Amino acid sequence: MKAKSGYASNPAEHAGNTIEALRNAAMDCRACPLWERATQTVFGEGPSGAPVMLVGEQPGDQEDIAGRPFVGPAGHLLTRALAAAGIPRERVYITNAVKHFKFELRGKRRMHKKPVDAEIAACHDWLKREIELVAPRLIVAMGATAVRSVLGRAAPIMGSRGKLTEYASGIALLITVHPSFLLRVPEQDKDDEYDRFLDDIKLAKSFVR
Ligand code: SF4
Repeated sequence: MKAKSGYASNPAEHAGNTIEALRNAAMDCRACPLWERATQTVFGEGPSGAPVMLVGEQPGDQEDIAGRPFVGPAGHLLTRALAAAGIPRERVYITNAVKHFKFELRGKRRMHKKPVDAEIAACHDWLKREIELVAPRLIVAMGATAVRSVLGRAAPIMGSRGKLTEYASGIALLITVHPSFLLRVPEQDKDDEYDRFLDDIKLAKSFVR
């Protein structure tokens, strides 16, 4: 059956009622073409019942190989910011809007390629079920792809970042940049942009007891 994305239906809706069952089902997802070239599904990780869920874009090269989210350079920045904000990484749930690595080859290097709206829509049901099962009190949407999946529409990151809003009853939403943005800014801006990101992440601290 075709879904709104134009691809096959995402099987997440019938994938069980625990994060573990959801993760296992996602390993075989073929709901969009991104699985074909990626190594594996990179599902979210963290405790079920985590008070904070961090959502990124998609796994990168290192995440694709390791099978874990945010273990590459952007992940190191995120881990550093969480530690600086006093938030133990193991207390939060970390995931991506899209669960397979999308890339283009340049020589032998696999270069990140931004997922298109149809791919974000195809993968959305996995994130929706993660939110249902983890039931966080705060969702941190990092970057445009995460915002599009979480809100179902685009929103300006710079105009929306650093403010707590309501996502749903009992669930707050915080928008910020994706940590990979901090790797791309000019050298002279890196410290300031990291500090701004850290200020945003610190807003999550009050949700982690
Ligand atoms: S990117 Fe998402 S929807 Fe597409 S195959 Fe992977 S898990 Fe399924």
